[in-house]
Amino acid sequence: MSGTVCVVGSLNEDTTLDVRALPAPGETTLTARPRRAAPGGKGANQAAAAAVLGAEVAMIGAVGDDGAGDRALAALRDAGVEVSGVVRRAGTPTGVAVLVVDAAGENTIVVDPGANASLGAEETAGAVAALAPAVLLLQLEVPLPAVVAAARAATGTVVLNPAPMPDDPGPVRALLPSVDVLVPNRSELGRLAGRSEPRTAAEVADGVAALGHAGGVVVTLGAEGALCFPGPGAAPVVVAGESVATVDASGAGDVFCGCLARELAAGASLPDAARRANALAAASTAYPGARIDPRTGPRAGPEVG
Ligand code: ADP
Repeated sequence: MSGTVCVVGSLNEDTTLDVRALPAPGETTLTARPRRAAPGGKGANQAAAAAVLGAEVAMIGAVGDDGAGDRALAALRDAGVEVSGVVRRAGTPTGVAVLVVDAAGENTIVVDPGANASLGAEETAGAVAALAPAVLLLQLEVPLPAVVAAARAATGTVVLNPAPMPDDPGPVRALLPSVDVLVPNRSELGRLAGRSEPRTAAEVADGVAALGHAGGVVVTLGAEGALCFPGPGAAPVVVAGESVATVDASGAGDVFCGCLARELAAGASLPDAARRANALAAASTAYPGARIDPRTGPRAGPEVG
Protein backbone atom coordinates (compact mmCIF):
# COMPACT_ATOMS: atom_id res chain seq x y z
CA MET A 1 0.00 0.00 0.00
CA SER A 2 1.55 3.28 -1.05
CA GLY A 3 1.90 6.18 1.37
CA THR A 4 0.26 9.54 1.11
CA VAL A 5 1.60 12.68 -0.53
CA CYS A 6 0.93 16.11 0.94
CA VAL A 7 1.53 19.21 -1.16
CA VAL A 8 1.93 22.59 0.54
CA GLY A 9 1.76 25.23 -2.16
CA SER A 10 -0.02 27.62 -4.44
CA LEU A 11 -3.40 27.50 -6.18
CA ASN A 12 -3.95 30.02 -8.99
CA GLU A 13 -6.29 30.68 -11.85
CA ASP A 14 -4.28 31.06 -15.07
CA THR A 15 -5.75 33.38 -17.68
CA THR A 16 -4.13 33.20 -21.10
CA LEU A 17 -4.42 36.10 -23.55
CA ASP A 18 -3.34 35.27 -27.11
CA VAL A 19 -1.92 38.23 -29.05
CA ARG A 20 -0.27 38.59 -32.46
CA ALA A 21 2.73 40.36 -30.91
CA LEU A 22 3.66 41.13 -27.30
CA PRO A 23 3.04 44.84 -26.57
CA ALA A 24 6.02 47.16 -26.03
CA PRO A 25 5.79 49.47 -22.97
CA GLY A 26 3.01 52.02 -23.60
CA GLU A 27 1.52 50.02 -26.48
CA THR A 28 -1.95 48.50 -26.55
CA THR A 29 -2.46 45.11 -28.15
CA LEU A 30 -5.81 43.46 -28.84
CA THR A 31 -6.26 39.79 -28.08
CA ALA A 32 -6.38 37.53 -31.11
CA ARG A 33 -8.63 34.88 -29.60
CA PRO A 34 -11.05 34.59 -26.66
CA ARG A 35 -9.23 34.42 -23.34
CA ARG A 36 -8.66 30.98 -21.85
CA ALA A 37 -8.87 30.24 -18.12
CA ALA A 38 -7.32 27.15 -16.57
CA PRO A 39 -6.53 26.03 -13.04
CA GLY A 40 -2.87 26.59 -12.18
CA GLY A 41 -0.34 27.29 -9.47
CA LYS A 42 2.73 25.10 -9.08
CA GLY A 43 1.45 23.52 -5.88
CA ALA A 44 -1.96 22.62 -7.29
CA ASN A 45 -0.45 21.44 -10.59
CA GLN A 46 1.93 19.10 -8.78
CA ALA A 47 -0.82 17.81 -6.47
CA ALA A 48 -3.10 17.14 -9.45
CA ALA A 49 -0.33 15.27 -11.28
CA ALA A 50 0.45 13.04 -8.28
CA ALA A 51 -3.25 12.26 -7.76
CA VAL A 52 -4.03 11.54 -11.42
CA LEU A 53 -1.08 9.14 -11.40
CA GLY A 54 -2.65 7.24 -8.52
CA ALA A 55 -1.28 8.71 -5.29
CA GLU A 56 -3.40 9.56 -2.29
CA VAL A 57 -2.85 13.34 -2.17
CA ALA A 58 -3.84 16.08 0.27
CA MET A 59 -3.32 19.76 -0.58
CA ILE A 60 -2.58 22.52 1.93
CA GLY A 61 -2.89 26.09 0.69
CA ALA A 62 -5.18 29.12 0.53
CA VAL A 63 -7.70 30.50 -1.96
CA GLY A 64 -10.11 33.43 -1.79
CA ASP A 65 -13.84 33.29 -1.21
CA ASP A 66 -14.53 33.87 -4.91
CA GLY A 67 -15.42 32.09 -8.15
CA ALA A 68 -11.76 31.49 -9.02
CA GLY A 69 -11.34 29.77 -5.64
CA ASP A 70 -14.40 27.58 -6.37
CA ARG A 71 -12.93 26.61 -9.73
CA ALA A 72 -9.45 25.91 -8.32
CA LEU A 73 -10.90 23.58 -5.68
CA ALA A 74 -13.27 21.88 -8.13
CA ALA A 75 -10.39 21.12 -10.51
CA LEU A 76 -8.35 19.58 -7.70
CA ARG A 77 -11.30 17.50 -6.47
CA ASP A 78 -11.79 16.35 -10.06
CA ALA A 79 -8.19 15.15 -10.10
CA GLY A 80 -8.82 13.23 -6.88
CA VAL A 81 -7.00 15.58 -4.47
CA GLU A 82 -8.26 15.93 -0.89
CA VAL A 83 -8.76 19.71 -0.41
CA SER A 84 -10.05 20.08 3.15
CA GLY A 85 -6.62 21.55 4.04
CA VAL A 86 -7.08 24.45 1.61
CA VAL A 87 -8.34 27.43 3.61
CA ARG A 88 -10.70 30.03 2.11
CA ARG A 89 -9.88 33.64 2.99
CA ALA A 90 -12.87 35.96 3.07
CA GLY A 91 -12.23 39.28 1.33
CA THR A 92 -9.04 38.08 -0.38
CA PRO A 93 -8.87 37.16 -4.07
CA THR A 94 -7.61 33.79 -5.27
CA GLY A 95 -4.15 33.99 -6.85
CA VAL A 96 -4.10 34.73 -10.57
CA ALA A 97 -1.49 34.39 -13.29
CA VAL A 98 -1.99 36.32 -16.53
CA LEU A 99 -0.08 34.82 -19.45
CA VAL A 100 0.25 36.88 -22.62
CA VAL A 101 1.33 34.65 -25.50
CA ASP A 102 2.28 35.80 -29.02
CA ALA A 103 1.92 33.95 -32.31
CA ALA A 104 5.44 32.50 -31.97
CA GLY A 105 4.71 31.13 -28.49
CA GLU A 106 6.82 33.78 -26.66
CA ASN A 107 5.13 34.81 -23.44
CA THR A 108 5.15 37.20 -20.53
CA ILE A 109 3.57 36.24 -17.22
CA VAL A 110 2.31 38.40 -14.35
CA VAL A 111 1.29 36.70 -11.09
CA ASP A 112 -0.80 38.23 -8.31
CA PRO A 113 -0.44 35.73 -5.44
CA GLY A 114 -3.66 36.86 -3.74
CA ALA A 115 -4.63 34.37 -1.02
CA ASN A 116 -1.44 32.33 -1.56
CA ALA A 117 0.47 35.14 0.18
CA SER A 118 -1.65 34.66 3.32
CA LEU A 119 -0.56 31.09 4.08
CA GLY A 120 0.78 31.16 7.65
CA ALA A 121 3.60 29.13 9.20
CA GLU A 122 1.73 27.90 12.25
CA GLU A 123 -1.42 26.73 10.48
CA THR A 124 0.73 24.98 7.86
CA ALA A 125 2.92 23.20 10.40
CA GLY A 126 -0.18 22.03 12.30
CA ALA A 127 -1.80 20.66 9.15
CA VAL A 128 1.36 18.83 8.04
CA ALA A 129 1.92 17.32 11.50
CA ALA A 130 -1.68 16.08 11.59
CA LEU A 131 -1.42 14.46 8.15
CA ALA A 132 2.07 12.93 8.69
CA PRO A 133 2.42 12.14 4.96
CA ALA A 134 4.96 9.69 3.54
CA VAL A 135 6.10 12.47 1.18
CA LEU A 136 5.78 16.23 1.64
CA LEU A 137 6.13 18.13 -1.66
CA LEU A 138 7.03 21.82 -1.53
CA GLN A 139 7.64 24.70 -3.97
CA LEU A 140 8.26 28.42 -3.39
CA GLU A 141 5.02 30.10 -4.55
CA VAL A 142 3.74 30.48 -0.97
CA PRO A 143 5.52 32.46 1.78
CA LEU A 144 8.89 30.96 2.75
CA PRO A 145 8.05 30.83 6.50
CA ALA A 146 5.15 28.48 5.66
CA VAL A 147 7.46 26.31 3.53
CA VAL A 148 10.09 26.18 6.29
CA ALA A 149 7.49 25.35 8.95
CA ALA A 150 6.04 22.59 6.76
CA ALA A 151 9.46 21.02 6.18
CA ARG A 152 10.25 21.09 9.90
CA ALA A 153 6.87 19.54 10.82
CA ALA A 154 7.28 16.65 8.38
CA THR A 155 8.24 13.18 9.51
CA GLY A 156 8.37 11.59 6.03
CA THR A 157 10.44 12.40 2.94
CA VAL A 158 10.60 16.14 2.15
CA VAL A 159 10.86 17.03 -1.55
CA LEU A 160 11.56 20.66 -2.52
CA ASN A 161 11.13 22.06 -6.03
CA PRO A 162 12.84 25.47 -5.47
CA ALA A 163 10.67 27.39 -7.93
CA PRO A 164 10.34 30.22 -8.41
CA MET A 165 13.73 31.05 -6.92
CA PRO A 166 13.53 34.28 -4.86
CA ASP A 167 15.93 37.19 -5.56
CA ASP A 168 17.94 36.16 -2.50
CA PRO A 169 18.59 32.39 -2.58
CA GLY A 170 20.21 32.51 0.91
CA PRO A 171 17.07 31.54 2.89
CA VAL A 172 16.42 28.66 0.46
CA ARG A 173 19.98 27.40 1.02
CA ALA A 174 19.32 27.59 4.77
CA LEU A 175 16.26 25.35 4.28
CA LEU A 176 18.24 22.54 2.60
CA PRO A 177 19.11 20.64 5.83
CA SER A 178 15.34 20.02 6.24
CA VAL A 179 15.04 18.73 2.65
CA ASP A 180 15.57 15.09 1.63
CA VAL A 181 15.25 15.50 -2.15
CA LEU A 182 15.88 18.74 -4.03
CA VAL A 183 14.46 19.05 -7.57
CA PRO A 184 15.80 22.19 -9.30
CA ASN A 185 15.97 22.92 -13.02
CA ARG A 186 19.25 24.21 -14.48
CA SER A 187 18.69 27.88 -13.71
CA GLU A 188 17.47 27.21 -10.17
CA LEU A 189 20.53 25.03 -9.51
CA GLY A 190 22.79 27.80 -10.81
CA ARG A 191 21.14 30.42 -8.61
CA LEU A 192 21.21 28.19 -5.51
CA ALA A 193 24.86 27.25 -6.06
CA GLY A 194 25.78 30.91 -6.65
CA ARG A 195 27.12 30.37 -10.16
CA SER A 196 26.00 30.73 -13.74
CA GLU A 197 23.46 28.35 -15.25
CA PRO A 198 25.15 24.96 -15.73
CA ARG A 199 25.21 23.73 -19.35
CA THR A 200 27.18 20.48 -19.35
CA ALA A 201 26.72 17.42 -17.13
CA ALA A 202 30.08 18.26 -15.49
CA GLU A 203 28.85 21.78 -14.67
CA VAL A 204 25.62 20.35 -13.24
CA ALA A 205 27.65 17.95 -11.06
CA ASP A 206 29.87 20.85 -9.93
CA GLY A 207 26.79 22.90 -9.01
CA VAL A 208 25.31 20.03 -7.01
CA ALA A 209 28.64 19.45 -5.23
CA ALA A 210 28.78 23.17 -4.36
CA LEU A 211 25.44 22.86 -2.55
CA GLY A 212 26.92 20.28 -0.18
CA HIS A 213 23.45 18.82 0.20
CA ALA A 214 23.30 15.71 2.38
CA GLY A 215 20.22 14.33 0.60
CA GLY A 216 19.34 13.51 -3.00
CA VAL A 217 19.22 15.98 -5.88
CA VAL A 218 17.42 15.54 -9.20
CA VAL A 219 18.26 18.24 -11.73
CA THR A 220 15.72 18.50 -14.56
CA LEU A 221 17.24 19.32 -17.95
CA GLY A 222 14.22 19.97 -20.20
CA ALA A 223 14.33 17.87 -23.38
CA GLU A 224 17.64 16.36 -22.20
CA GLY A 225 15.92 14.56 -19.31
CA ALA A 226 17.45 14.73 -15.83
CA LEU A 227 20.54 13.98 -13.78
CA CYS A 228 19.89 12.14 -10.52
CA PHE A 229 22.32 12.40 -7.60
CA PRO A 230 21.06 9.80 -5.08
CA GLY A 231 23.23 11.13 -2.25
CA PRO A 232 26.77 11.98 -1.19
CA GLY A 233 29.19 9.28 -2.36
CA ALA A 234 26.68 7.68 -4.77
CA ALA A 235 27.39 7.88 -8.49
CA PRO A 236 25.08 10.17 -10.48
CA VAL A 237 22.47 8.47 -12.67
CA VAL A 238 21.79 9.82 -16.16
CA VAL A 239 18.07 9.87 -17.00
CA ALA A 240 18.04 10.29 -20.77
CA GLY A 241 15.57 12.67 -22.38
CA GLU A 242 12.63 11.16 -24.23
CA SER A 243 12.10 12.07 -27.86
CA VAL A 244 8.59 13.55 -28.00
CA ALA A 245 6.68 15.71 -30.50
CA THR A 246 6.46 18.55 -27.98
CA VAL A 247 3.59 21.02 -28.42
CA ASP A 248 3.57 22.64 -24.94
CA ALA A 249 6.29 22.15 -22.31
CA SER A 250 4.64 24.44 -19.74
CA GLY A 251 3.89 22.49 -16.59
CA ALA A 252 6.30 19.66 -17.48
CA GLY A 253 8.34 20.43 -14.37
CA ASP A 254 5.17 20.18 -12.28
CA VAL A 255 4.25 16.80 -13.77
CA PHE A 256 7.85 15.69 -13.07
CA CYS A 257 7.64 16.70 -9.39
CA GLY A 258 4.15 15.28 -8.86
CA CYS A 259 5.17 11.96 -10.39
CA LEU A 260 8.45 11.84 -8.46
CA ALA A 261 6.55 12.34 -5.19
CA ARG A 262 4.05 9.67 -6.13
CA GLU A 263 6.79 7.16 -6.90
CA LEU A 264 8.74 7.93 -3.71
CA ALA A 265 5.55 7.53 -1.66
CA ALA A 266 5.09 4.11 -3.29
CA GLY A 267 8.59 3.11 -2.16
CA ALA A 268 10.61 3.59 -5.37
CA SER A 269 14.32 4.39 -5.22
CA LEU A 270 15.25 7.94 -6.25
CA PRO A 271 16.72 6.90 -9.66
CA ASP A 272 13.64 4.77 -10.46
CA ALA A 273 11.32 7.60 -9.39
CA ALA A 274 13.29 10.05 -11.58
CA ARG A 275 13.08 7.71 -14.60
CA ARG A 276 9.32 7.39 -14.25
CA ALA A 277 8.91 11.15 -13.69
CA ASN A 278 10.99 11.87 -16.79
CA ALA A 279 8.84 9.58 -18.95
CA LEU A 280 5.57 11.08 -17.71
CA ALA A 281 6.77 14.69 -17.90
CA ALA A 282 8.01 14.14 -21.45
CA ALA A 283 4.68 12.57 -22.44
CA SER A 284 2.85 15.57 -20.95
CA THR A 285 4.62 17.94 -23.37
CA ALA A 286 2.91 16.22 -26.33
CA TYR A 287 -0.42 17.93 -25.64
CA PRO A 288 -1.45 21.45 -24.59
CA GLY A 289 -2.05 22.57 -21.01
CA ALA A 290 -0.12 22.32 -17.78
CA ARG A 291 -2.10 19.46 -16.25
CA ILE A 292 -2.75 15.82 -17.06
CA ASP A 293 -6.44 15.43 -17.90
CA PRO A 294 -8.02 13.37 -15.08
CA ARG A 295 -10.39 11.79 -17.62
CA THR A 296 -7.76 10.57 -20.07
CA GLY A 297 -4.80 10.17 -17.69
CA PRO A 298 -1.25 10.37 -19.06
CA ARG A 299 -1.61 10.07 -22.84
CA ALA A 300 1.16 8.35 -24.76
CA GLY A 301 2.89 7.64 -21.47
CA PRO A 302 4.06 4.31 -20.18
CA GLU A 303 1.81 2.23 -17.97
CA VAL A 304 1.81 3.62 -14.45
CA GLY A 305 1.99 0.80 -11.94
P1 ADP B 1 10.90 23.36 -15.76
O1 ADP B 1 9.67 23.26 -16.62
O2 ADP B 1 10.60 23.31 -14.29
O3 ADP B 1 11.86 24.42 -16.15
P2 ADP B 1 12.37 21.36 -17.27
O4 ADP B 1 12.29 22.25 -18.45
O5 ADP B 1 13.71 20.87 -16.86
O6 ADP B 1 11.68 21.96 -15.98
O7 ADP B 1 11.43 20.10 -17.58
C1 ADP B 1 11.08 19.17 -16.58
C2 ADP B 1 11.06 17.77 -17.13
O8 ADP B 1 10.07 17.68 -18.16
C3 ADP B 1 12.37 17.32 -17.80
O9 ADP B 1 13.26 16.78 -16.85
C4 ADP B 1 11.85 16.27 -18.79
O10 ADP B 1 11.58 15.07 -18.09
C5 ADP B 1 10.51 16.86 -19.23
N1 ADP B 1 10.62 17.70 -20.45
C6 ADP B 1 10.52 19.06 -20.51
N2 ADP B 1 10.62 19.49 -21.79
C7 ADP B 1 10.74 18.38 -22.56
C8 ADP B 1 10.87 18.14 -23.98
N3 ADP B 1 10.87 19.16 -24.85
N4 ADP B 1 10.99 16.87 -24.40
C9 ADP B 1 10.99 15.83 -23.53
N5 ADP B 1 10.87 15.99 -22.18
C10 ADP B 1 10.73 17.24 -21.71
